[in-house]
Amino acid sequence: MTRVLKFGGSSVATGELLKRVAALAREALPHAPLVVLSATGKTTDALLAAARAAERGDAVGARELALGIRARHAALARELFGDDVPAELALALDGELSALEKRLDGVAMLGELSARSRDAIASTGELLSTRLFAALVAREELAGEWFDVRRVLRTDASFGSAEPNEARIRELCAAELAPRVRPGRVVVTQGFVGATEHGVTTTLGRGGSDWSAALLGAALDADEVQIWTDVEGVYTADPRIVPEARPIPELSFAEAAELAAFGAKVLHPATIQPATLRRIPVTVRHTAKPGGRFTTIRAEAASGRPLAALASRSPVTLLTVTSTRMLDQAGFLARLFAVFGRFGASIDLVATAEVSVSLTIEADAPLVELCAELEPFARIDVVPDRAIVAVVGERLKRTRGSAARVLAAAGDCHVELISMGASEINLSLVVAREDEHALVRRLHALLESARA
Ligand code: ASP
Ligand code: MG
Repeated sequence: MTRVLKFGGSSVATGELLKRVAALAREALPHAPLVVLSATGKTTDALLAAARAAERGDAVGARELALGIRARHAALARELFGDDVPAELALALDGELSALEKRLDGVAMLGELSARSRDAIASTGELLSTRLFAALVAREELAGEWFDVRRVLRTDASFGSAEPNEARIRELCAAELAPRVRPGRVVVTQGFVGATEHGVTTTLGRGGSDWSAALLGAALDADEVQIWTDVEGVYTADPRIVPEARPIPELSFAEAAELAAFGAKVLHPATIQPATLRRIPVTVRHTAKPGGRFTTIRAEAASGRPLAALASRSPVTLLTVTSTRMLDQAGFLARLFAVFGRFGASIDLVATAEVSVSLTIEADAPLVELCAELEPFARIDVVPDRAIVAVVGERLKRTRGSAARVLAAAGDCHVELISMGASEINLSLVVAREDEHALVRRLHALLESARA
């Protein structure tokens, strides 16, 4: 039995925070903690910026960014250990940073950055943060070790967004990692980073550490995967729009997925799916308020309310495609959607009528090109600056009158498209962007009212 504790970049940005993380690892000792860390603060951004500078041939700029990363980690080490930085840590950090500098020089010299080199560079952040933390764990006299996740996190060679091989990860974890995670020890490893079958470093894509935590938790049959961040879980609505929004105690995986798709930013559910598929609960917790509220996401457990939470996203563009030829032409929609597919424009919501189809696309979709393709067989009306407001709840569809209450609560916010039913648990409304916040607040009041 093991418990995975994943900490994001904002949770390991300062020495103070790293000490908190160590305290949390100490509390988790009876559960055989596996600590998965992101890079500290904005280190990954800086690494990628350095890679881009080097690619432009700006060796000096790249060096400066690398020096900044070196300085930040040296300062963190001093904050944690004062003048007594463990020699082994200094050596390990310097090893990673020297390798980084050599890679950047190489890229700058060739003026060429392959996806493979970019991953080698980007992975440095997690290697550094875990070295620091493992040294802190040792200083606090906790038993444990630094573990190179590349020994187990097998991926394909799609650098930059590598695809994990879950079967291989499970085998490798059973052989290499399971014997190391035991009650009374803290094993420290990297999020985001993986390796191909030949041991070449890969990354899972930006924000990939949550995915790493879920993959490792699933492979080890963990009792819980904890995602520690800077909020107390998944909120009923964006607290910047609704100040009285609160963390939701329990969410189903499907609810969390809908919320993320429509703008909730806490976590991307696809990344926790490996854990929920194995019925491992995933909790989202606040590193600075460990005793506070949190959200538990389970495969099925529902929020228990018809309206669990709201999410909204803007700007989006509303397109209405009208064609009399649509009338009795089989395959019209297929032809229409193929055009969007060709331009990589993903469609979020769709509503069809006899001779027209309305749909929403990202505001930055290639509109001019899309219209040029579509105009020969249809009339296109484009309405920019819209917002999608999504109401999510497992019991939404089974609760009589919930749609009516949602629409009534919308009041005089002019609703331009309604979509319900694709997933039984999501009712989405498209409104003008000026109405987005008002609508979210009204729907939140409905969500909080006992009758909702
Ligand atoms: N450090 C990586 C990033 O910033 C991965 C993560 O934080 O999840 O994208
Ligand atoms: Mg992150």
